[in-house]
Amino acid sequence: MDHFEYRNGELHAENVPVSEIVRRHGTPCYVYSRATLTRHYQAFDRALAGVDHLVCYAVKANASLAVLQVLARLGSGFDIVSGGELVRVLRAGGDARKVVFSGVGKTAAEMKQALVAGVGCFNVESEAELLRLSEIAAGLRKRAPVALRVNPDVDPKTHPYIATGLKQNKFGVEMSAAEPLYRRARDLPGLEIAGIACHIGSQVLELQPFLDALDRVLVLVDRLRDRGIPFTHLDVGGGLGVRYQEENPPSPSELAGAVLARLAGRKLKILMEPGRAIAGNAGVLLTRVEYLKSTPDKNFAIVDAAMNDLLRPALYDAWHAILPVTETTAAPKRVYDVVGPVCESGDWLGRDRELAIAPGDVLAVRTAGAYGFAMSSNYNARPRAAEIMVDGKQFHLIRARESLDDLLRGETLWPG
Ligand SMILES: *Cc1c(COP(=O)(O)O)cnc(C)c1O
Repeated sequence: MDHFEYRNGELHAENVPVSEIVRRHGTPCYVYSRATLTRHYQAFDRALAGVDHLVCYAVKANASLAVLQVLARLGSGFDIVSGGELVRVLRAGGDARKVVFSGVGKTAAEMKQALVAGVGCFNVESEAELLRLSEIAAGLRKRAPVALRVNPDVDPKTHPYIATGLKQNKFGVEMSAAEPLYRRARDLPGLEIAGIACHIGSQVLELQPFLDALDRVLVLVDRLRDRGIPFTHLDVGGGLGVRYQEENPPSPSELAGAVLARLAGRKLKILMEPGRAIAGNAGVLLTRVEYLKSTPDKNFAIVDAAMNDLLRPALYDAWHAILPVTETTAAPKRVYDVVGPVCESGDWLGRDRELAIAPGDVLAVRTAGAYGFAMSSNYNARPRAAEIMVDGKQFHLIRARESLDDLLRGETLWPG
């Protein structure tokens, strides 16, 4: 459930007609609902309320400061994948001790930065990373809290680009390598074993892959505990899917309930790293129709947002609902490809959509709160969109639209 609804034929974000936001801030823009972000975070937090737990929002889904701030104020932890994301979390008021640092390619500088900040856990993905982390931590006279991210080799049945827990993926260490690595970690001077982690992929729509992964990880958990390797937390990753079209993902409480049932008395703090399930349905992308163009084969609605603003359709063939912001119109219904101005045939937001629209109308691309702005770029020298957050009857610009000067910042001409 989200807080984007039609009232009297006008799409509202919470209690604000989105047309009012467009009048003030123009298009293209992203609009987020604070109530929806809050609701989704709390769905996870409450689902785990029976046990010691931490919900670590996956920052890469939507790293905008005000989004992180909303979650930090609710007590959220954060899953980060870069030093840049760490800076964002801290700037937004997040607690470093509630941060887990994931990713296969942490640089020495990022490790240092995270150790100095005091992050809660490094989710380590290779032996080489383990050795580097120990060396850097020891050099700072610190012990880095670590979890090994294991690769359980399960098929999450999602788009191949966002499957991460198959043995051919670059992520994690294979199950058989985990025990020797934990022994190694125990003996290294700069490390302190904190937990074990896995993350199988994104937009996962069934419970079974999560549970298959968990079963495999729990076998390892028991074996490690039997061998006297102590750790306190189990990080089950993120990846819970959302509804873009007709999908029916499990709810956070169904996922958490199934996970907790599997733990069967094992005393472990549970970490979860949802990204999309918190931010996805909390945002829409608003875009204005510039031109309607018909060819013998197709009708095109050419809009002012493009693949640089929302990459998911081009990258994953992803489907997003596209709806007019004002339902009532005299325009005839036609089937359109909704496309942007970028010079790529892959630059589309939706294909074969029945819409009654005229030039100048504003469309809302739904479920754009996760992997939307976060993946946007300046391709075709296009300034990135504005972002607005709604809270009840109020709305606030949380990121100004980039200017043409912003596009040139940091560049210089060859001297002379
Ligand atoms: C991307 C990612 C997540 C979040 O995935 P969602 O599908 O957005 O929930 C969580 N953990 C790790 C390690 C990730 O890379």
